Amino acid sequence: MTKHVIPTPAIPTIPVAGGGEFPVRRVYCIGRNYAAHTIEMGGDPNREAPFFFQKNPNNIDATGEFPYPPHSSDVHHELELLVALKSGGNNIPISEAMSHVWGYAVSLDMTRRDLQGEQKKLGRPWEIGKAFERSGPVGLLHPVSETGFLDKGRIELKVNGKVTQEGDLDQMIWKVAEMISYLSEYFELAAGDVIMSGTPSGVGAVVRGDVMEASVVGLSSLTVRVT
Ligand code: MN
Repeated sequence: MTKHVIPTPAIPTIPVAGGGEFPVRRVYCIGRNYAAHTIEMGGDPNREAPFFFQKNPNNIDATGEFPYPPHSSDVHHELELLVALKSGGNNIPISEAMSHVWGYAVSLDMTRRDLQGEQKKLGRPWEIGKAFERSGPVGLLHPVSETGFLDKGRIELKVNGKVTQEGDLDQMIWKVAEMISYLSEYFELAAGDVIMSGTPSGVGAVVRGDVMEASVVGLSSLTVRVT
């Protein structure tokens, strides 16, 4: 019998609407998946191969509080639809990809934009800008059995009551099924993996005291206070 030699770290979870917890194994995030955001970040909105980065599973946070992180003075919100997988595999065809989806939640890909920008310039990895403590605020997870597949509908973020980000899920350059299929060619996907599916335009900085209200049609909204 295996015996851990240090206290066993907790498995991060996302609370499920109606009860229960979804255990998180990996967190994949796609970059530049809405044309208008690609343009605002200086990229080409024509469809190129997608690119992904990761956050740590324990960066996911459902407390409704976002402690402003150290070593940055330009922390941005990125509003995203989170897709949670109940199963996975390798080389999943697009036609079968959606059968692996367990559910959806509203999420935020909080980003130390200044640090990410420095790393980009130097051709270095992005973790310092993306994968820091509590950088993935998340709302309640809803099973696809109740929501149906979310491939269209309004996605919106208000900061202090004012709309800063808005778009429609049908504006994703790479659709959820395509992301699952693509990822599964490079990684073995499995139950507990989640995908943050990119942000519409309007990303911007937050400061302590701000209140972010994120919503996607059909899901519980997410309210997060910057502390
Ligand atoms: Mn993002």
